[in-house]
Amino acid sequence: MLQTIGKLPVARQIAELRRTVAEWRQNDEIVALVPTMGALHEGHLALIAHARARADRVIATIFVNPTQFGPNEDFTRYPRDEAGDAAKLAGASCDLLFAPDAAEIYPAGFATTVSAGPLAAPLCGRFRSGHFDGVATVVTKLLLQAHAHIACFGEKDYQQLQIIRRVVRDLDIDCTIEGVPIVRESDGLALSSRNAYLAPDERRIAPAMHRVLVDAVAQVAHGVSPEDAAAAGSAALRQAGFDKIDYLELVDAENLQPLVDRSRAGRAAAAAWLGKTRLIDNEPVPSRGA
Ligand code: AMP
Repeated sequence: MLQTIGKLPVARQIAELRRTVAEWRQNDEIVALVPTMGALHEGHLALIAHARARADRVIATIFVNPTQFGPNEDFTRYPRDEAGDAAKLAGASCDLLFAPDAAEIYPAGFATTVSAGPLAAPLCGRFRSGHFDGVATVVTKLLLQAHAHIACFGEKDYQQLQIIRRVVRDLDIDCTIEGVPIVRESDGLALSSRNAYLAPDERRIAPAMHRVLVDAVAQVAHGVSPEDAAAAGSAALRQAGFDKIDYLELVDAENLQPLVDRSRAGRAAAAAWLGKTRLIDNEPVPSRGA
């Protein structure tokens, strides 16, 4: 028997997860997986709704993965609220929460990792050494543990989504990856668990990131080069009050290299700091003629 939090069944061990999914699959039920780090918001719940619409059973995972945080990043202060998250998941008709502890995922002697490859080099990869290897490794493990038919990831973490698609193809993981559009506040700020860190004055500046990205996309549509649009966007972020801009770039939507071939879809992506909080966002760049 699985433990429950309120009405929501919870698996702490991989064996429990496997047993539950095996039963569902035996009954020909379609199973969807939604991996998260918790502190759930409407963006996460959009992934659950996307999964719900495509599957008979929906599993959410909550695991704040230590190996994807750098030594000076926010692992210890990352927001954690399992009881609140469980209530939200139950309200969204999630069937199971998989919430393992670190020893379940990284047992003593753990030594094998997935290297995320060239897609991990640009954008956030330049500023977060090892981050995407940590993500690729834990997502590979979660996909193999759950053996779901589909797994849903947000476009909010666009580079992560492209890396996961690559990993799944390259390692022949039997799971279909679904990308889900970004959910935003009414002022355009992309929902993020890290928004909770923002002081009121920082929160007022934060929506500028989306405005600037939308403007960069519009400039390119009007014939400005991606490079010039990116440079103008970086200046606009600084002007808006961002303290440090890691990058604002227009890249090819698939290979994440600088956008040159305008017959291909692109992404305008940015990462910048407000005080101690690093925000990321991105916006599609339609291909010319699309
Ligand atoms: P996290 O808990 O931040 O690791 O995010 C878990 C999943 O939720 C990832 O696939 C994210 O891309 C996705 N996600 C986070 N924020 C949003 C958002 N605002 N809109 C859509 N998906 C999101």
